Amino acid sequence: MTTTEGAAASRGASRVLVLNSGSSSLKYQLLDMRDRTRLASGLVERIGEETSRLVHTPQAGGGGESRERNGRIPDHDAALRAAAEELAADGLGLDSPELAAIGHRVVHGGLRFTEPTVITDEVLKEIERLVPVAPLHNPANITGIRTAQALRPDLPQVAVFDTAFHTTMPEYAARYAIDVETADAHRIRRYGFHGTSHAYVSRRTAELLDKAPEDVNVIVLHLGNGASASAVAGGRCVETSMGLTPLEGLVMGTRSGDIDPAVTFHLKRVAGMSADEIDVLLNKKSGLVGLCGDNDMREIRRRIDEGDERAALAFDIYVHRLKKYIGAYSAVLGRVDAVVFTAGVGENSAPVREAAIAGLEELGLAVDADLNAVRSGEPRLISPNYARVAVAVVPTDEELEIAGQTFALVDN
Ligand code: AMP
Repeated sequence: MTTTEGAAASRGASRVLVLNSGSSSLKYQLLDMRDRTRLASGLVERIGEETSRLVHTPQAGGGGESRERNGRIPDHDAALRAAAEELAADGLGLDSPELAAIGHRVVHGGLRFTEPTVITDEVLKEIERLVPVAPLHNPANITGIRTAQALRPDLPQVAVFDTAFHTTMPEYAARYAIDVETADAHRIRRYGFHGTSHAYVSRRTAELLDKAPEDVNVIVLHLGNGASASAVAGGRCVETSMGLTPLEGLVMGTRSGDIDPAVTFHLKRVAGMSADEIDVLLNKKSGLVGLCGDNDMREIRRRIDEGDERAALAFDIYVHRLKKYIGAYSAVLGRVDAVVFTAGVGENSAPVREAAIAGLEELGLAVDADLNAVRSGEPRLISPNYARVAVAVVPTDEELEIAGQTFALVDN
């Protein structure tokens, strides 16, 4: 049993540190859950390289100037210590009795973790057992957890899983139509990702419609550099576009999304590529970047405005896939109350929203051009009054959701 097992936050403590550890990066945010405000945020990039960089931004009282540190940060331990020093310089040190818990984003929780979970030795072992199904993500998350445990062994550490929200998917949506024994032996099934975002955004959409989450059916389109769609019926996820890994589904910044799986055998047999090379091709060199050389939607739109045909085709392929998912999820849900756009592209790209909804009037969907053109950080409707189904933009906030779920578990 670790010192954190069953641990509760010290009475009255209301701050939560949220950590999102990647293979060579560490993102952090410190939030105060009394008033759900952000106190500071930061990012450490290129951990382990000579050119590591830490950018720290105080956020309290409307935010302050970012501070930067450059130069080698050898590992996650050093990265978290550097972040802790920056927080301490703002009077927000991690030794503060105000700190209630540390919440970790963990990408893969398999079938076991359906809820946020206080991290014990046994929980950590189970997250390690899931490494074969999340080889790119879970090892970094585990490093982040161990590092934070070393720094504050007395504090509750909570894992919030990207897959958890999708564990309500019915078996017929989660299972691939492949041999059952083979699938089960290797835990091959559709897990889905971005769950914290889909949970947060679908709930905020219900609020925007002034309804209880149980009373609304929502299609959430999380369009960031990674992208996924989900169908949420009465607050429960019933279908999502990512699968065993985040590669399935929509066209993304650098991932192909759906392809015929035979493309992979073809690449091996005909092009002589190894499994690792195909993995890199489909995850890092495909999607928008593979189609036109750019994965930033702003740049793609700029090129389209200049008459660039490759950029235009990439945009059309991206939007076509989105439309197919909107149609499919309308059928899955039967009745749709809202289609909601979120994340970097979804929140900011009016042309993507307009093109994805264009021609879907038969599904009750339409976008009002003026409302769609409004730039705002607030949840908002962009459909005309007459539309049967609401179309909305709801900014996601995965850190706030992780902090909220973490705090709910440890607050006493
Ligand atoms: P995310 O992964 O949610 O941070 O989203 C990152 C992506 O959002 C970038 O790669 C861009 O394609 C897109 N993005 C960010 N800002 C804008 C913007 N103002 N207009 C269009 N796309 C944007």
